[in-house]
Amino acid sequence: MKIAIVVGHNKAAQGAVRVTDKRSEYDWNGQLAEMIRSHNTAAVKVFHRTPGGGYSAEIDRVYKQVDAWGADCSLELHFNASGSSSVSGGETLSSGTSGSMRLAKLVRPAVAAALGNKDRGVKVLSRTDRGGRSLWQGRAPAVLVEPYFGSNVSDCNAADKHMDELAEAYYRAAAAFLGHTAATPPSVQAKPLTPPTSAPLVADTPSDDERGRRSQTYRAGGRYAPAGGSARPPQLTNPKGNTMTKSIFTSWTFWFNAASFVVALATALADAFPDYREALLMVVTIGNVILRFKTSQPVSLKPPRTN
Ligand SMILES: [Zn+2]
Repeated sequence: MKIAIVVGHNKAAQGAVRVTDKRSEYDWNGQLAEMIRSHNTAAVKVFHRTPGGGYSAEIDRVYKQVDAWGADCSLELHFNASGSSSVSGGETLSSGTSGSMRLAKLVRPAVAAALGNKDRGVKVLSRTDRGGRSLWQGRAPAVLVEPYFGSNVSDCNAADKHMDELAEAYYRAAAAFLGHTAATPPSVQAKPLTPPTSAPLVADTPSDDERGRRSQTYRAGGRYAPAGGSARPPQLTNPKGNTMTKSIFTSWTFWFNAASFVVALATALADAFPDYREALLMVVTIGNVILRFKTSQPVSLKPPRTN
C-alpha cells in the first residue's frame, strides 16, 4: 500500500492564504501532510512541488516522482478561496476515471464528516481544466482536495479544531480505497453533516483553484454534464449521490399552486354568498391600508441573496 500526499503549490508561490491567520495553502497543508503520514509512515510519502520551468513542468515533475515511488493513489492538498467571505464548504476534484472517482467518493464524505461543513460534492476536471493536470499526469488514481474555504472564518476555525480528524479522514479514505481499512473511524461517523441547502454550487468570485473547474459537474448515477450543455443549473448532491432538497417556499411550483387554490376558494365563496365580492373588496382595501402604515420599508423586485 503506497499513498502519495502531494502538497499543493510551492514554497515560492504558496497559494491562497487564510483569512484568520494568513497561513498559506502550502504552509497549512504541509503540516497536515505530516499528520497524515504519521498514521502510517511506511505507507504514506509526502511530496512537495518545486518551482521552476512553469506550472506544467512543476506538476509533471512531482507526479513523475509519485510514479517513480510506485504510488497506488495520490491526494493533492489544497483549500479553497472565494471573493465572498460567506462562501463555505468542501469539495473533492476527480479526473472522472473509475479509480479517481471511487477514491473521491470515499474521501468526500469522510472529510465532510470530519469538518462538519457544507458538502459541495465531487467535481470532475478534464486534463486541460485549471488544476486538471494534477489529476491526469500521474499513473495512479488521483484526487485534488479542497476541504474548506480559507476565505471563510468559521471554515478555518473548524479546520483547525478538527485538523486531526481531517488527517485521519484522508488516511482512512485512501487506505479503504486500497482495501486496507474502513473509510471512516467510528469517532467521526457519529458527527452530523451540515444539512443540505439550495445555495449555488459556485462561489461569487472563483479562486485560482476554482476557476476553470466548471466545465464538468458530476451528477448522481455517473453522468457528466458539460457546462452550458443544458438549461438546468448544476445540482448539488450529497455523499450518497442523492440530489439535495430546497425549501418549499423557494419553489415556483408551490406558489403557483397556492395562488391557484386561493382563486378557486374565492370563486367557490362568491357562488355561495351573494355579498361576497363587496366584503372581499373591503377586506383587501382595509388590509392594504393597515399594512402600509405598519411597515414603511421600501421594497425591491430583486431576488434575495442566497449566500
Ligand atoms: Zn490551491
